[in-house]
Amino acid sequence: MEYRPVYITSFKNGSLRQKAQQARAKLAACTLCPRRCEANRLQGQTGFCKTAHQAIVASYGPHFGEERPLVGKGGSGTIFFAYCNLLCIFCQNYEISHLGEGQAVSDEQLASIMLELQQAGCHNINFVTPSHVVPQIMSAVLLAAENGLEIPLVYNTGGYDTVETIGLLDGVIDIYMPDFKFWDSGIAKRLCSAGDYPEKAKKAISAMHKQVRDLTLNDDGIAVRGLLVRHLVLPNGLAGTGPIMQFLAERISRNTYVNVMGQYRPCGNAKRIEELSRSLGTEEYLQAVELARKAGLERLDKPRRVFAIW
Ligand code: SF4
Repeated sequence: MEYRPVYITSFKNGSLRQKAQQARAKLAACTLCPRRCEANRLQGQTGFCKTAHQAIVASYGPHFGEERPLVGKGGSGTIFFAYCNLLCIFCQNYEISHLGEGQAVSDEQLASIMLELQQAGCHNINFVTPSHVVPQIMSAVLLAAENGLEIPLVYNTGGYDTVETIGLLDGVIDIYMPDFKFWDSGIAKRLCSAGDYPEKAKKAISAMHKQVRDLTLNDDGIAVRGLLVRHLVLPNGLAGTGPIMQFLAERISRNTYVNVMGQYRPCGNAKRIEELSRSLGTEEYLQAVELARKAGLERLDKPRRVFAIW
């Protein structure tokens, strides 16, 4: 059966325009994410995410390294936004997320990028690090929908989102792809200055799942709707993989599609933290996958990690 992205209905009944306006109003005293900076971004002020009223795009294009159900033959249409509301110390896109490499774009330009990716044959539009630019995304989706956008939208987030912002995205986003990065509040505080990350991520992921439920694929194996969770395994058990997998299996759904990622290597300022200053070991990765299975999760993305042979 052919899937019709949710924003098409919201566009036709006018709720997309209304929600885009509500989101835009939040920029006047920004509480879009749990940092709650209250910066007047419409007047050029910036908060933790260093982004004012325009989104900054670092790069865009068809991406073939994402999860299989997003990639298919045409690739996932990724749009990488500069800056971030989380700023993990070990970020592998340090120049983009911490230093803000990219070009400020208008809503019209962002809409054109989406249409270009659709034209290029991508299966979806994949907003990478979108939490701090939700209003800009919504305004651009409105323009793109007016001009024929008709592929699913993926919200590819670090997981540090508020339930209110996820509510604004109800009827806009088809596929939520949050990270669940850390289970322990002290570790989250050390690694991304967000001690409330575990609590906020749990609430946000629950809200996402309530909206879109488990990941659904079409007859070609391409994702059209639902939740897909990523978890980067950190060395020395810092991520808290066991309890995160249990949470997903018991509090979200045993049918949650999970990508347990084993590609950690020290990037950004990771070497400042002794436990993060080496790559993940093969054994640690295999143990993490085993923890996911033991928790009862069976829909695990097939690993693409290349293990070194000693
Ligand atoms: S989106 Fe940016 S400015 Fe707004 S609350 Fe979050 S970090 Fe602060």
